[in-house]
Amino acid sequence: MQFRMMKTIIEPFRIKSVEPIRFTTEKERERILKDAGFNPFLFHADDVLIDLLTDSGTAAMSAKQWSGIMDGDESYAGARSFYSFEKSVKDITGYQYIIPTHQGRAAEKILFTILGGTGKSVPNNTHFDTTRANIEYSGAEAVDLVIDEGKDPNSLYPFKGNMDIEKLENFIKETGPENIPIGMMTITNNAGGGQPVSMENLCAVRNALHNYNIPFFLDACRFAENAYFIKLREKGYADKSVKDIAQEIFSIADGCTMSAKKDGLVNMGGFLAMNDEKLAQQARNILIVTEGFPTYGGLSGRDLEAIAQGLVEVVDEHYLRYRLRSVEYLGEKLIAAGVPILQPPGGHAIYINASEFAPHIPPEQYPGQSVVCELYRVGGIRAVEIGSVMFGKKDKKTGEFIPASMELVRLAIPRRVYTQSHIDYVVEVIIEMFKRRQSLKGYTITYEAPMLRHFTALFEPVS
Ligand SMILES: *Cc1c(COP(=O)(O)O)cnc(C)c1O
Repeated sequence: MQFRMMKTIIEPFRIKSVEPIRFTTEKERERILKDAGFNPFLFHADDVLIDLLTDSGTAAMSAKQWSGIMDGDESYAGARSFYSFEKSVKDITGYQYIIPTHQGRAAEKILFTILGGTGKSVPNNTHFDTTRANIEYSGAEAVDLVIDEGKDPNSLYPFKGNMDIEKLENFIKETGPENIPIGMMTITNNAGGGQPVSMENLCAVRNALHNYNIPFFLDACRFAENAYFIKLREKGYADKSVKDIAQEIFSIADGCTMSAKKDGLVNMGGFLAMNDEKLAQQARNILIVTEGFPTYGGLSGRDLEAIAQGLVEVVDEHYLRYRLRSVEYLGEKLIAAGVPILQPPGGHAIYINASEFAPHIPPEQYPGQSVVCELYRVGGIRAVEIGSVMFGKKDKKTGEFIPASMELVRLAIPRRVYTQSHIDYVVEVIIEMFKRRQSLKGYTITYEAPMLRHFTALFEPVS
């Protein structure tokens, strides 16, 4: 794979502060699963040994970030911490107006409150679930236009997050540019497996949108991981620094939404950034109603300080090399054991292909949920289903079940949290499960909420 020729790529840090993890027995875990309605979102986190539920807000902060926490200025307006946050975000993005929000979805909510609404349509490579929910909540439609390779779990195409430019152009013509208030690209493409987008494709999307005067925004949650993939895989970028590449990425777009809980290396925070002054003013007016004054926007001064430092550390190439390698390492071991995963490994997670792992479970019995429950039962590992529980639908007229395009189980790797031996343990558990995968059972949903049902749904095993 991309790092095979080198010596072991080690964690580029030493550990100063540790947090114990709690061991449970298989019997205890069977009870915990039952009590949680077989939905790992409803566990007590203390009952989890290795938590791969998400890479969002789960990073370990550095000593410098923790010292920034002590140094935070908690003034209501004009805090020093806001200006260090603003400077750090501007340094990477180059955008003029930087609006702090308490997390990524708050930035999305503000953006689509202004730009969304009935009759509007917003294209993206693949909308993340909160982005889609915020667009649909405004009355608009969220449209996914990722390339076909991005939907093929076995394709080794290097930029599976790319948008299909022909589909985008047809979409603009059919929908009418006046009905498309904005176009987006998610880097890396989280819902499509953490797959990167190439610089070439970003430019092509920008050109297609700008031809019709449609603004172009990035969902920039994992911009640093995407930039490092560009360095490794795209012609002409091998000798550029990741920071230069990141700056070039942002320069292509007109603005971004960001969850700093990913590549901000913090536990809470986000921002909305843009060059359009009028849009920024509208956004700040909503911010004041929903988040807070424009120099804190739902965050403490200390949070802003930690983001400012996180954005410096995340473009460090020793960090990124370790980050991408640690995910690839898990992928390599699973592939070697014959476990079906989405290829090639993404930037923040490995995705088990549950339709191949448990082909005897039909999509309407949620094979991904079955793998997720078994991972916990056998090994105390928490993962998340990204398949028909998350994205499956019922046909509005016939009530017929419409499955998601893929049945995946995501093993998201928190940043700087687990060591190689934790990952080796995860591999052992999965291989043990894989050997007796025939015993996995399907599930039915016994309760579901009208939106984002995966967070609170309850399940029962099919007998
Ligand atoms: C996490 C995420 C969001 C939402 O951010 P939150 O901070 O969780 O609100 C939006 N888009 C993508 C691609 C994400 O990964």
